[in-house]
Amino acid sequence: MTDLPLLQIPGWQQFPWLRHGFATRVGGVSTVYGKNSLNLGWTAEDDPEAVRENRRLLVNATCTEDSLDRGMKLVTVRQIHSNHIHSIEAGDAFAGKLETSEGKAVLEGDGLITNDAGVLLAAGTADCAPVLIVDPHLRAAGAFHAGWRGTAARIVERGVEKMHQQYGSRSEHLLAAVGPSIGSCCYTVGEEVRDKFEEEFSYGAELFEIVLDASNKRSFKLDLWKANQQQLAAAGLRPENITIVGQCTACTLDSSGEARYFSHRAQAGRTGRMLNVVGIARSL
Ligand SMILES: [Zn+2]
Repeated sequence: MTDLPLLQIPGWQQFPWLRHGFATRVGGVSTVYGKNSLNLGWTAEDDPEAVRENRRLLVNATCTEDSLDRGMKLVTVRQIHSNHIHSIEAGDAFAGKLETSEGKAVLEGDGLITNDAGVLLAAGTADCAPVLIVDPHLRAAGAFHAGWRGTAARIVERGVEKMHQQYGSRSEHLLAAVGPSIGSCCYTVGEEVRDKFEEEFSYGAELFEIVLDASNKRSFKLDLWKANQQQLAAAGLRPENITIVGQCTACTLDSSGEARYFSHRAQAGRTGRMLNVVGIARSL
């Protein structure tokens, strides 16, 4: 058995039907990004067989040993930094309608929601924020990919809205977690990004720290965690129901001094992808 560390939200473990987790780069069979790495994305450098095996290991690590549970179907989308969200039916996933014969995603967008048991919704990241949302009352869940573009386009706010429209979820019942992603410590962005957030959100300016370099040139550091936290709160979630995992994908190291996460910025674009998953078990 491979040791695949999966980050979980402690308070979410009280729901026996809920499956969730945030992957790190550790515990897989890929070798292109260092040995035993858990690359879960179809990157140009990696062997698709290794990615398939890593995905299988992730499902196993997320689920119990019950065979129905182990058979949960992973659903991904081709991410495009949008605010487009798909409502997923387990029947379509199991009929193979949501992926190609090679297992690649068919749908385009950046959010997935479901209230069907048996599917494990996934958001792929390597710095962007993965946001998982759970409705423990009505048993529904969502996974969202929120980089600065998706965040500025209010993807999680739209996710909360869409869970309400489709499943009747009430925002005050929802639990949300913003997973490992680039922290403001490492996330310098251009002035146009700051302008965009200031235009879009009344609290936009609070999300940035201004940094001056030696020649007095200004740059801006964006707090993507706070941006999504604020947005979830504005969508009606209770502050105590929003968890920020708070690990920066660009600078967090594991105990042996190696990078814990894949990071587009820290590894200059040549890197793998994590998957961040949530779903409802079939076995309970
Ligand atoms: Zn950092």
